[in-house]
Amino acid sequence: MKIGIVGAGQVGASAAYAVALLGSAREIVLIDLDPALAAAQAEDISHATPFGSATDIRAGEYADLTGAEVIIIAAGVSQKPRETRLDLLARNAEVFRIVTGEVLNHAPDAILLIASNPVDIMTGITVRLTGLPAHRVIGSGTILDTARFRVLLGQHLDVDPRSVHAYVLGEHGDSEVLSWSSAAVGASIFGDVALARGKPVTEDVRARIDVGVRRAAYRIIEGKGATYYGIGAGLARLVAAIGGDERSVHSVSIMTPEIEGVRDVPLSLPRILGKGGVLGDVMPEISAEERLALKASAQMLKDTLDAVHV
Ligand code: ADP
Repeated sequence: MKIGIVGAGQVGASAAYAVALLGSAREIVLIDLDPALAAAQAEDISHATPFGSATDIRAGEYADLTGAEVIIIAAGVSQKPRETRLDLLARNAEVFRIVTGEVLNHAPDAILLIASNPVDIMTGITVRLTGLPAHRVIGSGTILDTARFRVLLGQHLDVDPRSVHAYVLGEHGDSEVLSWSSAAVGASIFGDVALARGKPVTEDVRARIDVGVRRAAYRIIEGKGATYYGIGAGLARLVAAIGGDERSVHSVSIMTPEIEGVRDVPLSLPRILGKGGVLGDVMPEISAEERLALKASAQMLKDTLDAVHV
């Protein structure tokens, strides 16, 4: 499969690197406003391929996207001093207007994977700008938050996180909802297994894991300025799920017709991914408290999206 990545900064390059190591695609075209950066990243990553997989990676122009099945959009501008979040969003919307126009000119049938933050809002803006159906515009959403949640739950019980089934729903950000009530180990309720194994989920345990998931990005940014390896690997996993028509379930963000009474809002739920993009949702049963939190998260995202004029 051929893919394109627009934005060869830290997130775009990490995604390309992870795709090359995992072998999620056969061919990668890297595009950036700064062609020298794209060329340097492509050359550097190409030197990893003998240790990873048979992936051809090169820098290119939009015309080189012809035939690409998935395009990751990781382009963006950063916040200027004294700029508000909404002003930044408006500037990024302009970047996306140009980028999506070019991308769809050359790869009109591609699935768009949105990585630029705030990812839910950028996903909503992309649907507005392109008029594409929701299932073809997929934000990376809470894939990382869900991964962090599973790792911490797995560590608590000393169980492989791949056998822990738990999701972070809603916004990729402060209002996200860790669904404790639907968390499972194998096919058993997480809280029941924890009790049976003598490791009950006390208030302290819950608070520690909650903070561990919620504050991860802040801790990493404090230490190294940005986060990119985790999201790069997550994006490579989504590319594999789509390219391989896996029908595997991932918490990703798409425009959602209705959730908890809030209409037309971009947010993450567990969704089935395959060749056409999002093929369906698998909404877990969640507690009344979590439903309220999900409603609040959805309303906040909707209000933010409504405030952006594109
Ligand atoms: P991140 O950490 O999110 O990857 P960076 O600033 O490292 O952030 O990367 C963002 C990249 O997006 C930069 O390399 C920048 O040149 C690129 N970019 C910005 N605007 C455009 C655009 N209109 N088209 C293509 N690339 C763009």
